[in-house]
Amino acid sequence: MAGHRRAGGLSRLRAAARLATTLLVACALAACSAWPLGTSIPTRWQPSANFDQRRPTLVVIHYTGSETAADALRTLTTATPAVSAHYLIVRDGSIVQLVDERARAWHAGESRWGASFDVNSDSIGIELDNDGRTPYPQAQIDALLALLADLQRRYRLPAAAFVGHADVAPWRKVDPGPLFPWRTLAASGFGQWCDPPYPEPPLGFDFALGLRAIGYDTRQLDSTWAAFRLHYAPDETAAEPSERERALVYCLSGLASSP
Ligand SMILES: [Zn+2]
Repeated sequence: MAGHRRAGGLSRLRAAARLATTLLVACALAACSAWPLGTSIPTRWQPSANFDQRRPTLVVIHYTGSETAADALRTLTTATPAVSAHYLIVRDGSIVQLVDERARAWHAGESRWGASFDVNSDSIGIELDNDGRTPYPQAQIDALLALLADLQRRYRLPAAAFVGHADVAPWRKVDPGPLFPWRTLAASGFGQWCDPPYPEPPLGFDFALGLRAIGYDTRQLDSTWAAFRLHYAPDETAAEPSERERALVYCLSGLASSP
């Protein structure tokens, strides 16, 4: 009996050593802490070698709304008001990284885009040092373009992955504002764009459905339309969606090229 107990103790020790080795290997691969994150209900841990880091699928562009970069940095790094972004681009073109890209920064708040209902979990957030009234300096836009190219290359992002805060939270946000050069970005492959001549929408084209196909949340259609106008046609002033806006939505929605 005593020998039996010893043998049992030894096999338990070996099993524990095997589990520890397995976890160490898994942790080395996943850069995780001591135990894999998972369900609390009973399971068996049998790690696979076939995985990598989750990747962001969106890049959300903001302006800080602050008078200075120092003010913005203070806001983005202190515990109150609990906001952050992965990057801050200063007016002179220098870039400050504030949050590891693998971590969830707190920049989008309550937001939706396409099927994403937790934009912070799915995105990289970039804040531009801008008060919301001043044109963006070329040095700042050049730095942004360089950062976007780097993100696009590493995460293999399509043009449609680059959006503004107002696009994903139209009922409460307007940044990066009407002065943001979306067309310049689109010329480099960041963000969707359509130039005239636009395809003519079919009779009875549903404007809201078109906005939804682009990715917009249309639960509050007026604010969504305002966010769309801010991004694609900031010079429009008509009280109703203009023919140009309807054609733009049709073009951007991809419905025009559907079979
Ligand atoms: Zn914002």
